[in-house]
Amino acid sequence: MSLSSHQIVTDLTALIGAHAVIGEPERMGGYVKEPRKRFHAQASAVALPGSVAQVQAILRWANEREVGIIAQGGNTGLVGGQVPLRGDEVIVSLAKLDRIRAIDPAAGTMTAEAGVILENAHKAAEAQGTIFPLWLASQGSARIGGLLSSNAGGVNVLAYGNARELTMGVEAVLADGRLYQGLSSLKKDNTGYDLKDLLVGAEGTLGIITAASLKIYPKPEDYETALVNIASPDAGLMLFQALHERIGARLNAFEIVPVFGLELQLRHGFLDRDPTAGPSPWYALIEVSRMKGGPGGALQAAIEAVFADGLIENAVMAESLADRARMWAFREQMSEVQSMEGTSIKHDVSVPIAAVPQLIAQGIAAVERLFPGIRPMPFGHMGDGNIHFNFSQPVGVDGKAFMAEADEMVHEAIYDIVLKLGGSVSAEHGIGQLKVQLLQQVKDSVALDMMGAIKKALDPKGILNPGKMLGI
Ligand SMILES: Cc1cc2nc3c(=O)[nH]c(=O)nc-3n(C[C@H](O)[C@H](O)[C@H](O)COP(=O)(O)OP(=O)(O)OC[C@H]3O[C@@H](n4cnc5c(N)ncnc54)[C@H](O)[C@@H]3O)c2cc1C
Repeated sequence: MSLSSHQIVTDLTALIGAHAVIGEPERMGGYVKEPRKRFHAQASAVALPGSVAQVQAILRWANEREVGIIAQGGNTGLVGGQVPLRGDEVIVSLAKLDRIRAIDPAAGTMTAEAGVILENAHKAAEAQGTIFPLWLASQGSARIGGLLSSNAGGVNVLAYGNARELTMGVEAVLADGRLYQGLSSLKKDNTGYDLKDLLVGAEGTLGIITAASLKIYPKPEDYETALVNIASPDAGLMLFQALHERIGARLNAFEIVPVFGLELQLRHGFLDRDPTAGPSPWYALIEVSRMKGGPGGALQAAIEAVFADGLIENAVMAESLADRARMWAFREQMSEVQSMEGTSIKHDVSVPIAAVPQLIAQGIAAVERLFPGIRPMPFGHMGDGNIHFNFSQPVGVDGKAFMAEADEMVHEAIYDIVLKLGGSVSAEHGIGQLKVQLLQQVKDSVALDMMGAIKKALDPKGILNPGKMLGI
């Protein structure tokens, strides 16, 4: 028999204290409202455990009483994984577990608890002359547990990999309350299945991550940053390949943005001035790092070479920290500025890098055929083959009515092209509750069987993030 909300709050209070339990719906706003405003279910309670032992106690109780549990970090996820689906779940916020337990620059490791805000992990690493190179626009709020559970990407994947590649080991509480002590700083460990890789990217469906050992790297001496005018995504791909050949692993970021993105940011006052070298249909934001004592000017030299080859016609290099900040703001404000233009239909997709131009050309053609006047806004991590393929509503139409008519048809058109090009329907945001059905439609059936078997083995009562990802 399912417990009443009142009983849930009473039980949680007995376990972790009244100060750490929120039972009143009017105080839960910050935990149940998510960035895309698509999901609106309430929770039975919000619990804020202050120790790993308290997380264990909550899960032991929840497993016994079959109460659905949703782990939550910074609540910045874009697919609704961190907020309720049914309305009777308990949100377990890891916000209070926010200690950096250890940091060892010589070994290149940092052990951080799940509730550490990414920006604080950056500061802790930098205080030791190192970096934790996971950078994304939500870094002021997103927390280590959430970032790992959604295997976050961001703008530095090209050089350092995504969250999974930055994780050496995790500590996690299983559905029955047992603690998996998998913190590790081993570079090599072939003792059976890689359980860390299973928990990273599991979106809270297999366990609650309480801490992680993370890779940190020597801090580059400085960065060279440029905004290059490119005629098309095809030209962008050629430029990426040419720069990669010349610069190799020091090429940290290669992001593309269409001119429509610049127009919106200038129109809505998001940029104090145009950071580009002048009008162009597309722009590439490129960044290269220089390590201590290493030669400078690699990006400048490479850009001069491709200019001489006729691959590009115009570019501007950042000459100050303010220039660099403005260039990055141009890229990072893309999601936010779109909301100033009414509703938009969004996709976080990836294809093999060589297929990015086809994806963009075919996607724009297909969707413009369906809805003339729709405004395409594909932008993002070209260097990873990951494009945020967004479309703003046509000017002058009712946003809600347009979404009702267009949302599904546009998704179908884009996902169809992505799959034909051998791509993924979720490059970095995950499945959550947004893409549960889509996953069932597009994922290999053997892979789905394997994932279902793992879920049932680790969470037989289905208490961890019920209904999310696999829909069970
Ligand atoms: C402006 C903006 C920009 C963004 N840019 C990017 C980007 O460039 N790249 C990118 O990858 N993402 C991006 N995101 C998405 C989001 O920031 C990431 O998915 C981030 O990793 C989520 O971290 P969080 O702490 O907010 O997790 P939450 O949103 O709280 O949770 C995300 C998922 O992880 C689970 N979870 C949370 N904590 C734990 C835990 N301790 N143990 C187990 N499961 C847990 C939740 O149940 C949920 O399924 C962006 C979001 C915003 C709002």
